[in-house]
Amino acid sequence: MPHPQAALPGGSADAPSVIWFRDDLRVGDNPALHAAIQRGRPIVGVFVLDEESPGFRALGGASLWWLHRSLLSLAASLEGLGARLILRSGPAESVITALTASVGAGAVFWNRRYGAAEREVDTRIKAGLRAGGVETESFAGSLLFEPWTIRTGQDRPYSVFTPFWRACTSGPPPRMPYPAPRKIPGWGGAMASDGLADWALEPTRPDWAAGLRSEWEPGEASARALLDTFLRDALDDYADARDLPAEPATSRLAPHLRWGEISPYQVWHAADAARAGATGRAAASATRFLTELGWREFCYHTLFHAPELASVNIRREFDAFPWPPLDDRALRAWQQGRTGFPLVDAGMRELWRTGSMHNRVRMVVASFLTKNLLIDWREGERWFWDTLVDADPASNPFNWQWVAGSGADAAPYFRVFNPDLQAAKFDPQGEYIRANVPEWGTDAYPAPIVDLGDTRRAALAAYDQVKRTK
Ligand code: FAD
Repeated sequence: MPHPQAALPGGSADAPSVIWFRDDLRVGDNPALHAAIQRGRPIVGVFVLDEESPGFRALGGASLWWLHRSLLSLAASLEGLGARLILRSGPAESVITALTASVGAGAVFWNRRYGAAEREVDTRIKAGLRAGGVETESFAGSLLFEPWTIRTGQDRPYSVFTPFWRACTSGPPPRMPYPAPRKIPGWGGAMASDGLADWALEPTRPDWAAGLRSEWEPGEASARALLDTFLRDALDDYADARDLPAEPATSRLAPHLRWGEISPYQVWHAADAARAGATGRAAASATRFLTELGWREFCYHTLFHAPELASVNIRREFDAFPWPPLDDRALRAWQQGRTGFPLVDAGMRELWRTGSMHNRVRMVVASFLTKNLLIDWREGERWFWDTLVDADPASNPFNWQWVAGSGADAAPYFRVFNPDLQAAKFDPQGEYIRANVPEWGTDAYPAPIVDLGDTRRAALAAYDQVKRTK
């Protein structure tokens, strides 16, 4: 009589391994792919476009554009190594379960993600596959520190960055990256795949992505090249120059990290190695850069513990904030970069044209929206979600709440950026403004839509209501 296990998919000697790619569109330092290769059976790679599972947030336009290119790049890398990338759309649970059965897979591997809806789906899939005898494992590939491992002395999540980062960095350092595979044993069976073009991720009518195409090259190879260039040319001055939007002083890795074309482990160890050989200002710059990766971790840990980060105030007393009825015209002026405040307009136009915006200017435009236009931070978060190529489920809402004052370890509400003073300080020659607002200083440039002093006073008066409910 055959052993009962022999009937299960995992029992077959050459039952393939499925690697399910999600926010980790790379072959280098990919622990799930590494495990699949170690298993020694043929490998099927799959990406699922899931717009149907409950609680999943639909991707914004700029993210869809990026995803299209990134999938092309991943498929080419896999093909070069000997494997295929299968594309499927639909709710992940049914897609992965059906695909596993149809190829008779013996194992399914993936790297973890941290949103609540995604974790729920992953947990259900894992339980279902395991019950069917399929080996199923998830790995840490997108964060340096798993959110459940970093806790205060009172066994709670951290709500303040400095002690959080101290706790992260006082333990063992992040593991070393896995080397990129030289060959992947692809599964030879017949397997249907959706056509990427049929997903229509790229805009066509109108095609608004020309600026994105000229600015960005999605994919693992260009992420690696950006990192190398940054370490060689800019890391030493990062601490001083990172706040100057006219300077090419930051890594521009955010969208690549968002889609996992490069892992934080690869970035961490490359920058840490540079730090080891540095002294003085260069060493301080490297530390500062590593700390920014720490903010990315903090955003994800916060999302893990506060899954409604994009809709609910972390500091619940902000629920009492008396947002006035939405002023559509003011919102549109902000979105289009026509507020009459040059630094704000430069940032918003940079965002529209390139799918990105310098961090300093993001803070200024977010402060302006929430504190001078008195528009709810969620409106700004939504706009960024749609237009940023690095739109990230953790970093975007976290930073919006940080600027608005309602977030974890947030800037105090009464800190209202003055966009003109910020411009004088961080773009003193007006280079950044001129590059993005060519008509600045001419009659064609709009007059300011609000008075900075009056609106600041109104915002602080509104904030009194929050203070009263504390
Ligand atoms: P670098 O200065 O080179 O930093 C290296 C990496 O550290 C970044 O790529 C990023 O992964 C991380 N990092 C740096 N600053 C932050 C930060 N404040 N929070 C979290 N991670 C950080 N970043 C996103 O990745 N996605 C977003 O959707 C996003 N939305 C934002 C919204 C607002 C209102 C603000 C103020 C900031 C937002 N940021 C977001 C953070 C920051 O502006 C970008 O990460 C940064 O500008 C990306 O440029 P860079 O890759 O050259 O950064």
